[in-house]
Amino acid sequence: MNRFALTLAALLGLATGNVMAWSNHSYAAYRTFERMPELANAAPVAAQPLETFLKAEEKAIEALLASQETWASANLEFYPPRPAALAFKANPARSDEARRQAFLMALRVAPNSKFALYMQPDPWGAAPDASRLLAHSAVDTLPEQAHSTLRFAGLKVGEGVAPLNVLASACDEPDYGLDINLWSDSPSDWGKVYGFEALPFGNPALYFSTQAPFHMGFYHEDRVIYLAAPFIKKTFPLLRIHQYSSLAALAFRSGHPYWGWRFTGLALHYVQDLTQPYHASLSPSNASARLIGINLLAMAGFPKMKDDMIVLLSNRHLALEKYQNQMVYQAAQNKIETGIEISLRSGDRDVSYPAWSELYARDVVARQSHTLGARLTDILVDTLPSMFVSDPSFDFGVKESEIDLLAEISKQDPAKRARLDSITSELMGNFGAHSRNLVRGILKNAAPK
Ligand SMILES: [Zn+2]
Repeated sequence: MNRFALTLAALLGLATGNVMAWSNHSYAAYRTFERMPELANAAPVAAQPLETFLKAEEKAIEALLASQETWASANLEFYPPRPAALAFKANPARSDEARRQAFLMALRVAPNSKFALYMQPDPWGAAPDASRLLAHSAVDTLPEQAHSTLRFAGLKVGEGVAPLNVLASACDEPDYGLDINLWSDSPSDWGKVYGFEALPFGNPALYFSTQAPFHMGFYHEDRVIYLAAPFIKKTFPLLRIHQYSSLAALAFRSGHPYWGWRFTGLALHYVQDLTQPYHASLSPSNASARLIGINLLAMAGFPKMKDDMIVLLSNRHLALEKYQNQMVYQAAQNKIETGIEISLRSGDRDVSYPAWSELYARDVVARQSHTLGARLTDILVDTLPSMFVSDPSFDFGVKESEIDLLAEISKQDPAKRARLDSITSELMGNFGAHSRNLVRGILKNAAPK
């Protein structure tokens, strides 16, 4: 990597701090799917351990994972091949645990991932019985955040559960440690054997930086940016979407609807992340020429503009997610809907997009989101208190758990707030429409041919 690329990499590294895109995908997913007939009218499915599915369909999974590898090599612009030793080979004699490890390593996800039998309840519904609650660490391998609203209710093997619960819960699951430390320079044993090379941007010592290249996709930058910093093409949301959506179709086809919905939710997470403009743009609102100019100045020994830009990018990114999460959570607490819930649920625009295809996430979702970035940034800067979005001496990430953005914004001009609510609803409308279109695509692939 040349020096120019290195300073740009540092920029991305900091801009991808402890950010999880939409803070809790499950809350938004409940509204997205609650009236979609495929979910609303679906009969309960029996909760099934991952090991049971893997054992029953071992041969079919071997064939599917081999075809996923072929697909990725042919369709992804950057794809380090999976080392041959990691290929999933059926072996009915091995233990359930050995099979599970082989499966997770063939997918190249963190092999210590829990894949617990659990659900995250709908915040609009009744609180789960305290006796059902699982410890955070039973579901999520990452540390629990301060003031976390995550709640996990355990499911028993064979227990009936509504597909909506399975799907909405799994939409948040890729943020529970599945994509952590997968790189050759990661502090993990598996990163050394996965073949993904070194972390392309960000700090390999910070666990949350190591998941960013799986949850972001910079597909629509200017050519000059790719020439200057080709490493920004080293992102993998399309890989994850393909892996989980084809597993979902296999699970549905072979009579394992619990895992059909669960894998569908996992695939959805990455599509939903790309609806966050800060996950689909290197630097929304900064033209390429400006970005390169700031980078050149930093290389020449004048880093202040670059350092300031990094903080502002991160602060705006976090402020948007905080606002969205607080709005969705407050609506559920007060049982009062806002435009966000209505937009999430509305199916009016679903058919305005092309039907689901393998590259829809790049060509439709990330393109739309990249285009929205500049307008979104203007609105954030114009409507949120300037300390949070225009002051590079303020670190939103450090202060986040103490900030009540709703309280702050209620002191602002209501007309300004209306603009922020309008674009947040628009983004949530995109989240809903693209999510439903993926589900339609998976169910179509799962139907008997
Ligand atoms: Zn994510």
